[in-house]
Amino acid sequence: MPETMSAWQVVEPAPMARRPLRAATLPVPTPAADELLVRVLACGVCRTDLHVAEGDLPVHRPAVVPGHEVVGRVVAVGAEVTGWAVGERAGVAWLRHTCGRCRYCRAGAENLCLASRYTGWDADGGYAQYATVPAGYAYRLPAGYSDVQLAPLLCAGIIGYRALLRAELPAGGRLGIYGFGASAHLTAQLAIAQGATVHVLTRAAAARQLALELGAASAGPADAAPPEPLDAAILFAPVGTLVPVALAALDAGGTLSVAGIHLSDIPPLNYQRHLFRERTLRSVTANTRDDGRRFLDLAGRHHLHVTTTPYPLAQADRALADLAGDRVEGAAVLVPDPAPAEPATERAR
Ligand SMILES: [Zn+2]
Ligand SMILES: [Zn+2]
Repeated sequence: MPETMSAWQVVEPAPMARRPLRAATLPVPTPAADELLVRVLACGVCRTDLHVAEGDLPVHRPAVVPGHEVVGRVVAVGAEVTGWAVGERAGVAWLRHTCGRCRYCRAGAENLCLASRYTGWDADGGYAQYATVPAGYAYRLPAGYSDVQLAPLLCAGIIGYRALLRAELPAGGRLGIYGFGASAHLTAQLAIAQGATVHVLTRAAAARQLALELGAASAGPADAAPPEPLDAAILFAPVGTLVPVALAALDAGGTLSVAGIHLSDIPPLNYQRHLFRERTLRSVTANTRDDGRRFLDLAGRHHLHVTTTPYPLAQADRALADLAGDRVEGAAVLVPDPAPAEPATERAR
C-alpha cells in the first residue's frame, strides 16, 4: 500500500473561473474501525460537487476532497467491520452517517436526519486514488456495468429514483422531465421501463436527441409546453424560473418534484395558474439507504444505458468546469490510473 495519493481539494470555494479545485498529494487515509478503505476505480462528477466547490453549500470540512459517486475496490477493512472482504467492489455515495435516534431516523426518514453527514462535504470523497466509507453506508453494486458506468448510478441514479418516487407518477402515467443531465437520463429510462410516457423538456439539442434515442415520447425546449398535460414532473435543472413553467404543465392533481439540492430563486407563483386544482410542489432531500439499495437492485434488473464522459483524475478541474458550462453529455466520470501491480478492472462489456 502506498503512503500517499493524488487527490483534489476545495481549498477556498469560488466560482469555477477562479479554479477552486487544487491538486494535492495527501496521505492514503486509514479506515476507522467501522470503515472500509477502497481504491477508487471511478468517481462520478455530480452537480453537488460544483455547489461544494463554488460555495453554494457552506464549508463543512475545510480543504475537503469532493466526490460522492465512488466505485471502489476494498483494500482494507476496519477491525469491527463484518460482511465485507478485501477485493470486493463497493459503492460509496453521498449519505455516510445518520444518528439512528432522532425522530426522522426513527420514522424511516434518515434522509432528513438532524445529524447526517455526507461524503465529499463532511468527509473526504472520491476525487482521489483512495477513499474511506463507513461499512454500513457502502453499497453492493449490480453486475452488468463497468466501473465507469456504475459511478453515476450512485448519486444521479439514486437521487433520480427518489425524485421519481416523490413525484408519485401513477402507473402508465405521463411524466415531464425538465433538464436532461446525468440524473435525468437514468430516471427517464427507469420510468419508461415501468410503463410511463416521458416528455423531456431541456435546452440543449444534443440532450433532446439523446432523450429520443432512450425512448422519450417527445423532447422539446425547457420553456415550451409538453404535447399533453402531465401527471407528474421532475425538475432536474437547478433553475428556479422553471418551477412555474413545470407547474403550469401539470394536469389537475399532478405533482412536481424538485430533484436538486440547490435551486436558483423561484419567481412569484400565481395560485390559479400554478397551484389550484390540487397541484403539488415538493422537494427531494438526499435519500435513505433503502432508496439506494432499491434503485441499485432495479438497475441490476432493467439494464440502463449510462452515457458517460470519462476524464483522467488529473483533469478533475476540467471535468467540473465542463459540467458548470453544460458541456458534458450524460455523466462525467473521473478515472484514476490503474494500480500498476494489478490486472485491469472490468470495462464496458
Ligand atoms: Zn437521525
Ligand atoms: Zn450527487
